[in-house]
Amino acid sequence: MSHNVIEFDEQCKACKGTGLYFGLAEKDGAAVICQICKGTGCRHVKIEYDDFEGRKTTEKCERVFETNPGIVIGRNKEEFELSDFGGMFYKEWVRGLPFPAKSENRKFICPAWWYQSADYYKKPDWNDKDRKCIFTGSFSKCDYFKRKNECWERWDREYGNGK
Ligand SMILES: [Zn+2]
Repeated sequence: MSHNVIEFDEQCKACKGTGLYFGLAEKDGAAVICQICKGTGCRHVKIEYDDFEGRKTTEKCERVFETNPGIVIGRNKEEFELSDFGGMFYKEWVRGLPFPAKSENRKFICPAWWYQSADYYKKPDWNDKDRKCIFTGSFSKCDYFKRKNECWERWDREYGNGK
């Protein structure tokens, strides 16, 4: 990997290279020195970066999730495995595979909550005799949240492309 350093002097943008600042309180040709360049009119710029040579892999990751709208994801004693929160194996994601159907965090999050951050165009906003999305500051306060498995079933029918 190659490390690069670029250094150059640029004309101070704040004072357009004059080294001077004309504020509202400086009148009749009065000026104070530019605080950005200390009156020199010049700003030294140093940029350091490493060349991109492909995405790196990591040993740290086991499972990848498309998004996380705000639930702690982790193993919890005997109760939860990472797969309980949806997602896909890191080793499959590395190979370039897409997120499979039903890889949302369906156990803890409803369709509207999930797709608000994952893909706004797939966010349902149901308001009919069967179901009404009620957002009052928190998705989990919706009347249907406890039955969100039914919301996911409906979401599958309307947005899931038959998967
Ligand atoms: Zn300046």
